[in-house]
Amino acid sequence: MTEHDVIIIGGGPTGLMLAGELALAGVNVAIVEKRPDQAVEGSRASGLHPRAIELLDQRGIAERFLAQGTKHYAVALAGIVLEAHDRPSRHNYTLGLWQEKIERGLADWISELAVTLYRGCEMATFVETAEWVEVRLTDGRSLGARYLVGCDGGRSLVRKTAGIGFPGSEPQASYLIFEASMADEPPLGIRYGARGLYALGWLDGGPRVRGVVTEERLEQDARPTESDLRAALQAGYGSDLGIHAVTWMSRFTDAARQADAYRKNRILLAGDAAHVHSPVGGQGLNVGLQDAVNLGWKLAQVVKGISHDALLDSYHAERHPVGAALLELTLALTALNRGDEHTTALRGFVATSMRMDEPRKWYSAKVSGLDIRYGAEGSHPLLGRRMPDLDLVTADGPTRVFELMREAQPLLLDLGAPECAVPERWRERVRQVSASFTGICEMPVIGVVSPPAAVLIRPDGHVAWVSTGNCEGLVEALSTWFGD
Ligand SMILES: Cc1cc2nc3c(=O)[nH]c(=O)nc-3n(C[C@H](O)[C@H](O)[C@H](O)COP(=O)(O)OP(=O)(O)OC[C@H]3O[C@@H](n4cnc5c(N)ncnc54)[C@H](O)[C@@H]3O)c2cc1C
Repeated sequence: MTEHDVIIIGGGPTGLMLAGELALAGVNVAIVEKRPDQAVEGSRASGLHPRAIELLDQRGIAERFLAQGTKHYAVALAGIVLEAHDRPSRHNYTLGLWQEKIERGLADWISELAVTLYRGCEMATFVETAEWVEVRLTDGRSLGARYLVGCDGGRSLVRKTAGIGFPGSEPQASYLIFEASMADEPPLGIRYGARGLYALGWLDGGPRVRGVVTEERLEQDARPTESDLRAALQAGYGSDLGIHAVTWMSRFTDAARQADAYRKNRILLAGDAAHVHSPVGGQGLNVGLQDAVNLGWKLAQVVKGISHDALLDSYHAERHPVGAALLELTLALTALNRGDEHTTALRGFVATSMRMDEPRKWYSAKVSGLDIRYGAEGSHPLLGRRMPDLDLVTADGPTRVFELMREAQPLLLDLGAPECAVPERWRERVRQVSASFTGICEMPVIGVVSPPAAVLIRPDGHVAWVSTGNCEGLVEALSTWFGD
């Protein structure tokens, strides 16, 4: 049996990101992926939101993605487009980029790191003991690991085998998403039918079309037919629009489900394996990347014996509420997409409210993943929130916060409190940098905050401790997060 520290089932975006995080931390990690290569069927996710781009920037790989995508400085909601260029982030835009390119970018990154990839291999089942997890592949081989992470998508076999509950809301409507040619001029844009959305747009600038249509009745068969698509087009547009050359079609519903435990002993879940919902709002892939970055450093510390395995419970404590909020948002957006008179009135009401400055900023931060705070409100507004990418000057010259986070190491950043040094027993694993900062520290939603005198930043970019003039609480924060 080949042994690893961690085995990840699924080499989609979440599994790839997690493998990169673990490999950076020096963990012996392997991915088991049943697809023979990184090709993605259909277009699926269409882009990256600001926080996901920030995560890639923290690891020094954002440019690979930015070079291929298109920047959009706005967000859509309730039939309107909201300006969002004033989000206080260096990456204050959504990057239009198809999922396959995102996956290929991540796969290129991990190919540069020490990640073992079992490609074209499928997990059949696993057996867990108190010390170990044995993963059995369908080809008869066995792999062993101390932890197993299910990044195996919405139908997660890891989740089912672990017996982790997946409660949520039942589907009310089904939709078809497709890529095709149309003989008729396609009526581009969005329209609202009684049961939900119809949207047509050019695929990669045309002449082919990518569309979503709502079906007249709830259907749950995973394999829709072309006649299902014609029927839905007929219902929405009064014609099948001369559709032909359908190269991709997929059915999804508005069901929203979430794993009731993101961790059960040696088994963890991340990405779609932990939460599924309709793609409205374009959040799934982005939230999966954030799950991976929250889990990666914690799992690495546990595997390396730096932290007690109770640290892994903070993964559920921090990410389950984010997943729950994601499900709530997608259900709300789905409800707003109906075309009956009541919903049309509600959509108008929401659109008017959201045009106001504060709600607009709140929503654009929320769909960007920039508003997340882990834990309760603390002594400084930065506590628990993502550290902004401040421009700094160090003894070695100008730099910025994200450039100091490339190695996924904890960082104590001294911006004027040199007395708050990392004590000897953490010095090997917590980096300390002294810098000066003279700019404005602006946070999404809450606005300008006083720059900290010193700040302890976790490898995922969230703030674990802030000095408000003294070093009180630093040792406690170091013990809590980076091993006692
Ligand atoms: C039509 C559509 C549009 C979408 N649009 C957006 C969008 O605009 N923005 C956004 O953020 N998200 C979007 N999403 C969601 C996004 O595609 C998913 O959230 C994302 O792919 C989840 O990544 P993942 O790695 O968690 O899971 P997946 O991408 O599902 O990857 C799971 C991987 O596990 C592998 N696997 C499964 N079982 C096994 C097994 N037993 N053994 C080995 N390997 C296994 C699979 O082959 C797969 O590669 C959309 C989804 C759809 C369907």
